[in-house]
Amino acid sequence: MKELAKRVQQIPPYLFADIERKIDEAKQAGKDIISLGIGDPDLPTPDNIIEELCRTAHDPVNHQYPSSQGMLSFRKAVAEFYARRFGINDIDPNNEVCTLIGSKEGIANINYCFVDPGDINLIPDPAYPVYATATMMAGGFSYPMRLDPEHGFLPQFDLIPDGIADRAKLMWLNYPNNPTGAVADLAFFEEAVAFAKKHDILICHDSAYSEMTYDGYVAPSIFEVPGAKDVAVEFGSCSKPFNMTGWRIGFVVGNSVAVKALTTYKSNVDSGVFQAIQYAGIAGLNHPEEIVSASRAKYAARRDILVGGLNEMGWDLAYPKGTFYVWAPVPKGYTSGSFAEFILDKAEVVITPGAGYGPAGEGFFRATLTTEENRMAEAIARMKKVLGKVEF
Ligand SMILES: *Cc1c(COP(=O)(O)O)cnc(C)c1O
Repeated sequence: MKELAKRVQQIPPYLFADIERKIDEAKQAGKDIISLGIGDPDLPTPDNIIEELCRTAHDPVNHQYPSSQGMLSFRKAVAEFYARRFGINDIDPNNEVCTLIGSKEGIANINYCFVDPGDINLIPDPAYPVYATATMMAGGFSYPMRLDPEHGFLPQFDLIPDGIADRAKLMWLNYPNNPTGAVADLAFFEEAVAFAKKHDILICHDSAYSEMTYDGYVAPSIFEVPGAKDVAVEFGSCSKPFNMTGWRIGFVVGNSVAVKALTTYKSNVDSGVFQAIQYAGIAGLNHPEEIVSASRAKYAARRDILVGGLNEMGWDLAYPKGTFYVWAPVPKGYTSGSFAEFILDKAEVVITPGAGYGPAGEGFFRATLTTEENRMAEAIARMKKVLGKVEF
């Protein structure tokens, strides 16, 4: 066999491999590990969504190849969701929506529609790792936009050199943000749209957590900015709001040239989403509030235990208004990796080292809210026992 393609060879080593091996070892040794590591809802998919899958799975019409763009009825449900949820009434389901096999699929594949070898994408640091790896696999380079706590974990566009901005093809944004839990207001998106127009960049806004928000905070869509459709697409997902991570259904909305390019690309790579799953997705999109408000209350209660507990130990964290992540600095004397290892060894609690999300994540760790309240409280009790008071 000849050697693997460069794009595969260049995939960075999996940064959590070490910690996953340790978790396996600890579990094998019969230890009671509490994982605050995985960003995957522990709550079940609601019954009405499952029932819609079962009902439509019996119809032989749905046993054939779906279209790559997805059923018009699913795309209409997305457009109606945008109208009800964000007051955006001009999403055209024919030309401005494409169904995705989970938003991750589209997030990766859109790079192949825009990025030629040597092109540049602007990518937040820290970030969901797919933006940078997919950029690399398409032959492009990432220019990091540092997310600093002093700036609310928002990129500062004026720090990007004009020469880079003029060459950049895509700019990735993600609010509410994984891994930092930060949120962005409409003024930030206005600034982003103006920057993208000035430098002729396509903004790819990853909106996976738009519904996972707390304390009355309501996340905006980038399309609330007038004219944003000229320069932006937004990636949405049924995974997080409807507890459907295993089902694989998401969508992209916005600029028709970009949506069409992605649809064309996809029609050469995949054959769409099983229609019964699209029907299930419609059931979620048509009645999001009932499903989402119950989850919000659960995540917020867990967040209060986690952040409250950390703050009692000496952290000074704000309560995140969105996502199910808490992003916190590691105490003095630790790297993000050594702290995660210490907490795993001594407290038998899994947290993820921030360095796994990019160089600017060094010095931080991420803990998730996808663990029940009593286990969260137990995790905090264990951490208090081994850490006492922390210093920075
Ligand atoms: C979970 C997640 C996704 C992917 O969601 P799918 O629709 O399940 O592929 C995308 N972006 C971020 C930031 C996520 O955390």
